[in-house]
Amino acid sequence: MTQPLFLVGPRGCGKTTVGQGLAASLGFHFVDTDRWLLEQSGATVAEIVEQEGWPGFRARESQALQAVTQPATVVATGGGMVLAEANRVFMRNHGAVIYLQVPAETLAERLMASPEEDQRPTLTGKPMVEEIEDVLAQREALYQAAAHHVIDASLPVELIIARILEVLRLARA
Ligand code: ADP
Ligand code: MG
Repeated sequence: MTQPLFLVGPRGCGKTTVGQGLAASLGFHFVDTDRWLLEQSGATVAEIVEQEGWPGFRARESQALQAVTQPATVVATGGGMVLAEANRVFMRNHGAVIYLQVPAETLAERLMASPEEDQRPTLTGKPMVEEIEDVLAQREALYQAAAHHVIDASLPVELIIARILEVLRLARA
């Protein structure tokens, strides 16, 4: 089975980290939609949002999703990819969608340890933990709706990868 695998979840849930390891385990390509956009446009998420607003960024994000969807590819999606129903339907129809679920406190710890501000613009201007709780409250149902599988991503990375391979009944390359 070489259908694309889509990782969804909020920023900091481990889409890039787990996605790279998962791709290596399977001998799949790895693509990060935020990074792909950065390479295509020469602008960071923050810069695109500043110039074109969130709607402009969201439109580019949907195009990025479709452009990177290829067989034998692990796609790490931007945290807001699930907001558009069209993106949720596209992912579900083109591959297996995995939600990396992590409690808000753990997300806050991870993001405070590695803020990477330019790729992660604040959405509301509130303190980190509150903002994460708000965003999770708004999006949890959408991550669930998009996903074929929900994985506990507060575990160590190797265990998360093993669980994903297990639920997808895939073997390491
Ligand atoms: P995302 O791509 O979903 O925003 P990242 O893969 O960039 O998330 O991970 C965010 C931060 O959390 C990074 O510093 C990463 O090393 C760390 N991290 C990711 N997954 C785990 C994990 N399972 N356990 C501990 N730390 C993790
Ligand atoms: Mg990432």
